[in-house]
Amino acid sequence: MISEDSRNLIAGEVLSFNARLGRVGLGLALAAAVGTTLFLQPVGAFLPACLFHELTGVSCLTCGLTRSLEAAAHGDVLGAMHFHLLGPFIMAGMLIACMVCAAEAVAGRRIVQLRQARWQPRMLLVVAGIWVVYGVARAIVELL
Ligand SMILES: [Zn+2]
Repeated sequence: MISEDSRNLIAGEVLSFNARLGRVGLGLALAAAVGTTLFLQPVGAFLPACLFHELTGVSCLTCGLTRSLEAAAHGDVLGAMHFHLLGPFIMAGMLIACMVCAAEAVAGRRIVQLRQARWQPRMLLVVAGIWVVYGVARAIVELL
């Protein structure tokens, strides 16, 4: 018997109206996030200061991420990596997810097939681990 989770991960599956509506909503939210970064400049834009950085002098896990996304949106990948190493990858992921959402909403079918439902939590743990290792390494370098 196919579980509900794995059944929902089959490519080509016809999406319900609510699922298509969800794709539209997520796609619009991602497009708005990417679009917002296009209107801002990586340097000089008004951005609130990080309270953690203000208090400790050390960057938190998300310090520089907004400027990194803005630089990546303007095509400056190296500049984006200077602000936050993961910014260009996050921008690429948002663009890909936005396109997949749009394509699935228009087609009315699932396009991306994930192999196993249990793959997603593991991938999230790997990404979170990379993020934490990068953040700790950056903080150590800043303290030296
Ligand atoms: Zn911060």
